[in-house]
Amino acid sequence: MSQTRFGWAFVLAFLIGLQTSPGAAQERRLVAVTTTPTYANLVQLLGGDRVQVTSLMRGPENIHRIVATPAKMALAARADLFVHSGLDLELWVPLILRGARNPRILPGQPGNFNCAQGIVLKEVPKEISRAQGEMHVFGNPHYVLDPVNLIIVARNLRDRLKQLDPAHAAEYDRNYAAFENRMKRKLLEWLRQMRPYRGTKFVGYHNVFPYFADRFGLRVVGYVEPKPGIEPSPSHTAALIRVMRQENCHLILLNTWADRRTAERIAEETNSEIVLFPEWVGGVPQAKDVFSHMDYITNSIVAAIKRLETSGLSTTGAGGR
Ligand SMILES: [Zn+2]
Repeated sequence: MSQTRFGWAFVLAFLIGLQTSPGAAQERRLVAVTTTPTYANLVQLLGGDRVQVTSLMRGPENIHRIVATPAKMALAARADLFVHSGLDLELWVPLILRGARNPRILPGQPGNFNCAQGIVLKEVPKEISRAQGEMHVFGNPHYVLDPVNLIIVARNLRDRLKQLDPAHAAEYDRNYAAFENRMKRKLLEWLRQMRPYRGTKFVGYHNVFPYFADRFGLRVVGYVEPKPGIEPSPSHTAALIRVMRQENCHLILLNTWADRRTAERIAEETNSEIVLFPEWVGGVPQAKDVFSHMDYITNSIVAAIKRLETSGLSTTGAGGR
């Protein structure tokens, strides 16, 4: 009898052990919640096994239009680290923070990481106004589309992970060094790939482009949205078509969440190629991490330019003026 009881106790202890040991290991991991899948990928690359990370939005979604649901608040409630873009990219973040009731991730706390620190902003307006419902009132907030800015964000993020979890500082340093090396090598590769196409003119849908365009030498001719966050209008579309014809512009970069119809009409009128432009990791299935994300963007732009050249259309606007 006592043998059996001992046996059962042993089996029970074994089963409990099976159930609790992965849980206990998880408790020791830093719980990170990020607004975008790009930041989630960065946390994963820098944190490795030390972190458990979830993104609140999916890659193809429009970051300006995310709804702060109770499910998202519940995720943020248990986070040790909350990673966001700052500025006005995510006007829904204050609602998430209020709903989460998690003092660790409030602004000013070590658990609140604003990716915009140390970034030199482009397109900073002279006046702050949302009079027409427009976004980007502090400057263009889509800064991680320049790989150099991604490195700045990653470096600051490494320091924050070390602050939150000093016991594993050496691991974060190692992971960051590997990330920086790989990103710098990839950046040289992307620059070489895009170099023959410097000066290529394009039209974007929503203005996520200044950091990307400056890095790779592309020239923006206009946007399908009259202002960031404002729906296309017939008069603006007509004016944009006129400008594209004048400038010999045949390339439209379309945000993953954007309505295709206006872009297709413009493409028809101007003999343009439409290229899907994923702003975030996961924006298209091929963009599995920050590296394959930029691979996808440069590859699809180069492929479109080659198709245009085959049809005898200049992409730099040569001969158009
Ligand atoms: Zn925007």
